[in-house]
Amino acid sequence: MKILFGMLAHETNTFAADKGTFERWAPSGWTVGEDIMRVYDGAPDYPGGMIRAAREEGVELIPTVALLNAGPLLTEDAIEYALGTLLGYVKKYKDEIDGICLGLHGAGAAEVTDDLETYTLQKVREIVGSDMPITVSLDLHGNISDDMIRLSDGLFGIKQYPHVDQAEAGYLAMKTLIRMLSGESSPKTVLRQLPLLIAPSVGSTYNMPMRAFTEHFAAFAEAKGLIDATFFHGFPYTDVHYAGASVVVVAEEGAEEAADQLALWVWENRRLLDPVCLSCEEAVDQALAELDKDGTGYVVINETSDNPGGGTPGDGTHLLREFLRRNLKGSIMGYIADSEIALKAHEAGIGGHISGLLGGKTDNQHGEPVEFENAQVMALSDGHAIYTSPMYEGLPVCYGKTARLRIGNVEVVVSETLSQQTFDDRPFAITGADLEKYRIVGLKSSVHFRAFFQPRAKAIVTADPPGIQTANFHQLSYKKIRRPVYPLDPETTFGGVNHG
Ligand SMILES: [Zn+2]
Repeated sequence: MKILFGMLAHETNTFAADKGTFERWAPSGWTVGEDIMRVYDGAPDYPGGMIRAAREEGVELIPTVALLNAGPLLTEDAIEYALGTLLGYVKKYKDEIDGICLGLHGAGAAEVTDDLETYTLQKVREIVGSDMPITVSLDLHGNISDDMIRLSDGLFGIKQYPHVDQAEAGYLAMKTLIRMLSGESSPKTVLRQLPLLIAPSVGSTYNMPMRAFTEHFAAFAEAKGLIDATFFHGFPYTDVHYAGASVVVVAEEGAEEAADQLALWVWENRRLLDPVCLSCEEAVDQALAELDKDGTGYVVINETSDNPGGGTPGDGTHLLREFLRRNLKGSIMGYIADSEIALKAHEAGIGGHISGLLGGKTDNQHGEPVEFENAQVMALSDGHAIYTSPMYEGLPVCYGKTARLRIGNVEVVVSETLSQQTFDDRPFAITGADLEKYRIVGLKSSVHFRAFFQPRAKAIVTADPPGIQTANFHQLSYKKIRRPVYPLDPETTFGGVNHG
């Protein structure tokens, strides 16, 4: 048995002002062909899980492409190049392969399509026809459409946020495909979309209330003997018609009824997921109050509205400005993507002093640039690191030329490249900063940082100033999303139910 596999995933923030070029999608490049087997074997993400399942079953794999990131609406050129490369493999091997297993996202959009996953599956189907079994693993933030169901033979979602179970989704997609090809399984996949937007900042499955949702789905799936049941939180920053939460069930039988029951259960409990939005001032007050309880450890403040993992620029200045306004002792903010300042610091060298405008250069939605004078260059790095977050442990990352600056009492890590959100302590550690020596750590992420920081930080406080990943949906100018949708439209009904 021979299966072609790969990962081509993009979480698209259509409110982003910059351009979704291929370089923005893959700032440190991507992995193609046989290299995938070397880079992803044993890795904690989709391809790692797919490789593990195939090896267990003695299946031969044809690797294609591997890329996952978030960012602005993808350009036609980016799609032509990235998807074109994947389709090149499909064309080359179509007569040799028995099935296809793809890691997609679910919230992809491009100049050429509002639904990148359907577009991708359609292009693949044009080459291999309608009979070739195709299974897909998807991100928990996928906005799932009927067409994705129609064009695939099973959709398998991540259940945890932080996405520490990406490999499991890839594993299950591959395992189920192999069982289908062996004639052991012929499951049905059913989708129920909900008129519900869920803010990523309330999505952490490590914490209540979302943990209860995840546990309910797992218990339900086990009790009913389902192959898979995913609660897709959806991605509220892809302004497309079907954006929002959904339920997908894969089962040999009873999929329709199970999906109905789970969707109704989510709807009845939706108010538990109403967003909470603290200003930077309120967040710092709360963090300081947590610190006052004793004199040890650090509190993390995450700036959720400028989370590069959701397609934001990562150079927003709201939280940094609040740190500077209070001249917060023992504070560090990292990282801010600003190539101009990072390179200037490298020119000045360690111990040198620089002045300039920091951050706020990509758009006018995340705060003005911060004017600073005589910042001391504390440390420099070439930006190469190996992730320590459980989500990507062992995989390489590069932030480009990076510097740690000191402005008054506040330290700030500035990088040349916008390379994903802050998942762990690496952006700090590469500049020699030991977080245990600080009291307040500011970073840009909504939830993924929790995989590393929740066991280590004394407390976590979420700041939600203006930005294109705010939980305050009223700040965003939606054009395409279906209305009514909760909580934008509080009186929204679903299946005749609006109480709960
Ligand atoms: Zn996600």
